[in-house]
Amino acid sequence: MVKQGRIDVLGVGFDNLTMAEALAEGARLMSEAGAHYVVTPNPEIVEVCRENPDAGRAVNGADLVIADGVGVIYGARLLGTPLKQRLPGIEFAEGLLPEMVQTGKSLYLLGAKPGIAEQAAENLCRKYPGLRIAGTHDGYFQEDGPVTEAIRASGADVVFVCFGAPKQELWMEKNGAATGAHLLLGIGGSLDVFAGVVRRAPAVFSKLGLEWFYRLLKQPSRIGRMARLPLFLVHAALARGSKKGR
Ligand code: UDP
Repeated sequence: MVKQGRIDVLGVGFDNLTMAEALAEGARLMSEAGAHYVVTPNPEIVEVCRENPDAGRAVNGADLVIADGVGVIYGARLLGTPLKQRLPGIEFAEGLLPEMVQTGKSLYLLGAKPGIAEQAAENLCRKYPGLRIAGTHDGYFQEDGPVTEAIRASGADVVFVCFGAPKQELWMEKNGAATGAHLLLGIGGSLDVFAGVVRRAPAVFSKLGLEWFYRLLKQPSRIGRMARLPLFLVHAALARGSKKGR
């Protein structure tokens, strides 16, 4: 179910915010009692949510839903309910770090292959002096209990959860409260980027809305997953047609 006040793009509700507004909301959530989580769907994830009701519930149940992919911006415009801005999850996550340094909040990095989170921590600490890293853990574990316990024991305020979708969204929905953290962010392959193992698309690709194409060139094995992108646009066009017909 799409929460009230959100923009409904094929069953996923997006918060209509600029980056500055989203960061202010993120800062508020990390200081508020209780556990909150943020999801950053792209068109591929919207399609996954249409196919998998559990994923749809976990995504729509988030405290903040921001539009990661340019395709979502096109889809929302096509549906006659435009979103203000595309908000890449990795930029949102990094945008919160200066606030965390200033307020002394600590960060736990969870996900990716062994060794990646540690490297990401080292690089982030170099870029943001004073950043407190509460701990790290890879994303290939069998039982949730010991991991949530380790995060709780670390006293982390914020957790970057990087398993890819919809695994990370389902994990945050189920385990967010048990970690004791106030804010969890599901941001896919971001730890690989922070660690310097994967490069983000050069600015020219993002400016042209072709970041997905760059990723496809770099990782051709993504072709199966990316087949959902044209499907998403077809679904958006059909939904617009039926809206107009009403
Ligand atoms: N990953 C993980 N545990 C898993 C499966 C994947 O930690 O069980 C990690 C994987 O190593 C990679 C990230 O999750 O770092 C997924 O990256 P991808 O680029 O597929 O995610 P996207 O950004 O497209 O959601």
